[in-house]
Amino acid sequence: MAKRDYQKDKDQLKTFLLEYCTQDEFGKKTFKYSEQLSKIAHREQTAMWIELDDITSFSDDLAEAITQNTRRYVNLLSDIVFDLLPTFVLAPIPAKDALDVYIQHRLMMENRMRQPNEHRDARNKFPPELLRRYELYFEDSSLSKDVPIREVKAQHVGRLVTVRGVVIRCTEVKPMMCVATYTCDRCGAETYQPVQSLSFMPQQVCQSEDCRLNKSGGRLYLQTRGSKFVKFQEIRLQEMSDQVPVGHIPRSLTVYCRGEVTRNALPGDHVAVTGIFLPLIKQGFKQLTGGLLSDTFLEAHKIRSLNTSELDEGGLTPQELAALSEDDFYAKLASSIAPEIYGHVDVKKALLLLLVGGVDKRPDDNGGMKIRGNINVCLMGDPGVAKSQLLGYICRLAPRKALLVSV
Ligand SMILES: [Zn+2]
Repeated sequence: MAKRDYQKDKDQLKTFLLEYCTQDEFGKKTFKYSEQLSKIAHREQTAMWIELDDITSFSDDLAEAITQNTRRYVNLLSDIVFDLLPTFVLAPIPAKDALDVYIQHRLMMENRMRQPNEHRDARNKFPPELLRRYELYFEDSSLSKDVPIREVKAQHVGRLVTVRGVVIRCTEVKPMMCVATYTCDRCGAETYQPVQSLSFMPQQVCQSEDCRLNKSGGRLYLQTRGSKFVKFQEIRLQEMSDQVPVGHIPRSLTVYCRGEVTRNALPGDHVAVTGIFLPLIKQGFKQLTGGLLSDTFLEAHKIRSLNTSELDEGGLTPQELAALSEDDFYAKLASSIAPEIYGHVDVKKALLLLLVGGVDKRPDDNGGMKIRGNINVCLMGDPGVAKSQLLGYICRLAPRKALLVSV
């Protein structure tokens, strides 16, 4: 594969951001990305969403390169946006939160320390992660390219993929450190440490010029107030029922959400997640014991909830249902339970009746509230006659209703 000229890509992306526009039927042009940039510059918007289809219409080759190596292009685009933002500022921006004040103060101090004719870029001293108050995400709204969760494999590592699934678990949204700031107890200098992964090794010894020359060995203390945090949430995504081959167990995928991508899904939601598929690099002791194995996760860029028309779970039309129920509906429904298991029609009928029947609990003391009854099944039989298989099928069919134990 030919080596890519990233400088050229950067120039192209810059042109794209500034010049991409859509035209409505009256010939009015909308500069989609310039408008976003302007909002970000005035701190009215945090996340910048870049539609992959827009890039495809601009340059096919570039869109393909972005899909192949997404992280790199997120960094390139972040640099571009950082360079472009000052040109979009029309009015002075009031500080919005403590971190804004902190950054302003630091830049002011930096200016004061500097010689009048010395020109230094603030970026040389401060890590870009600290100064940037925006996030950059790719979205891919064409659902045709989505990959089933069980097909997301090694070839997708580092690539932008879209998967569909059901959210089965969500953690709370918690702050995660993305830049650790330390102050030295001897010279007072601040040290910044950008954190990329889920864990980090805290710095101990001050590396500032003062401390190094005097060998005073200043110790560093972590400052929570000066550090930068992003919102973080972990989601577990499970395959949709139509993607699971008969007789298989649904697979699931861990999704990490940061910043503006958090709080976009709740357990039970059907969603399409666009993100970068990455291996989870272990650190420290875990790395020593973990050997060569590695977990994977999807770094979410866009979570889109799917409405029922897009789901298309193969529902029946009323006519089809009527045709189906003409002769022996009961037996047909029963035999559709765990179709991979031959026979056991009586057992399947019993399971079917329990699935749709059952007794409601109506305790008198809670004001007539109705509580759905549990399904209780005791299956007895010789070993190896698919008792657990049948019960497992019911559990997957009605996960919230059934709690079945096979002994
Ligand atoms: Zn120091």
